[in-house]
Amino acid sequence: MKEWQANLHPETLMMSYGYNPHLSEGAVKCPIFQTSTFVFKTAEEGKAFFEVAYGLREKKPNEETGLIYSRLNNPDLEILENRLALWDKADDCAVFESGMSAITTVLLEFLKPGDLLLHSGPLYGGTDHFIQHFLPKIGIHTLEFSPLDDFDTIVDKVQDSGLAEKLAFIYIETPANPTNALIDIGLCREVADFFTEENPIRVCVDNTYMGPLWSHPLEHGADLVVYSATKYIGGHSDVIAGSVCGYKDEIIRVKALRTFLGNMAGPWTGWLLLRSLETLKVRMTQQAENAQKVAAFLQHHPKVESVYYLGLLDPEKDADAYDIYTRQYLSPGAMLSFDIKGGEAEAFKFLNNLKLMKLAVSLGSTESLVQHPATMTHAGVAIEHRKALNITEKLVRLSIGVEHIDDLIWDLNQALETV
Ligand SMILES: *Cc1c(COP(=O)(O)O)cnc(C)c1O
Repeated sequence: MKEWQANLHPETLMMSYGYNPHLSEGAVKCPIFQTSTFVFKTAEEGKAFFEVAYGLREKKPNEETGLIYSRLNNPDLEILENRLALWDKADDCAVFESGMSAITTVLLEFLKPGDLLLHSGPLYGGTDHFIQHFLPKIGIHTLEFSPLDDFDTIVDKVQDSGLAEKLAFIYIETPANPTNALIDIGLCREVADFFTEENPIRVCVDNTYMGPLWSHPLEHGADLVVYSATKYIGGHSDVIAGSVCGYKDEIIRVKALRTFLGNMAGPWTGWLLLRSLETLKVRMTQQAENAQKVAAFLQHHPKVESVYYLGLLDPEKDADAYDIYTRQYLSPGAMLSFDIKGGEAEAFKFLNNLKLMKLAVSLGSTESLVQHPATMTHAGVAIEHRKALNITEKLVRLSIGVEHIDDLIWDLNQALETV
């Protein structure tokens, strides 16, 4: 970063940081470098690039890492990674072809057979499946804690498992999908430090719901932050991608495994996300503003039983969650869910009668999306577990977009009236 850039805000740097037009025929925008391989000027240069890429020697001060092959590096990807890292004030970032490939690559890199993974629940369905069904196949033990557990409860759970000395990684998702339950990142750091003996125990946060604008988990003690960039970062429901931000040593390891799994994002995905990042802040700001008004409308609607939205947390009734909310988040966000009065029939009637809001899974896009977690995103979660997580037949989840607020409220109102 140049000296004059150091004090600029991320939303300013999204249009220029890391890209030199004079290396690309003066093009104002970074072109799509749709190429698999890159020409070396000399054999000596090729040798030098490989020495650094394969870690045979340290990079010299001011030495540029050379472009080699698009599985290792590509300008669309590198510029995107440099820009994404700014939001989380991370040393570096790695971009993947999906959120799931970012998450699974991190878990595979930092866990080995015999290790214990401690994780929060509920988790995104795909993550949950990988943890419950794949990791045990390679001998990794897993243990879940819940949003309400305090330090002693979590420590007891780990000790009762008999695997405390094997604890290697803590993975959390906050706010949890779809109920907006909160996990205290600082508390997870304390748990990690409590059990650390020789090998560091890392804390990783899935920040898809609130990042990269409204929460910066590294500031609260996390080592790694993962995203489904399909959601707010991409923001237009037209690309699947993922990313991992963190400290230098961790990201070097994640990128090394990515090179051999070959699940990096391609240049076209990189270019789409570069474009999306230019409007990230205006989109997310408008989405959160709309969501607060939607929450206020639903809260008093006679067909609605309860609304789960961070902006509606009560400092007294929800004291613990409210405390985490004020420490960890800069905004209540744009995701909310609510219980409709009744059950599946009433929820479906409402969903089927929406005219403007789209009935679809995913979130964080310019258009508002709505879905029924119990029968859609969380259909794979065992029914008892689902009940414990408060994911019932009457629960509906909304992802609020950038439409005019009056139109959103009109649509919600007319659909609720049909119920
Ligand atoms: C969508 C999502 C994922 C998975 O990301 P993909 O891009 O679909 O692979 C992971 N975590 C959360 C919280 C998500 O919403």
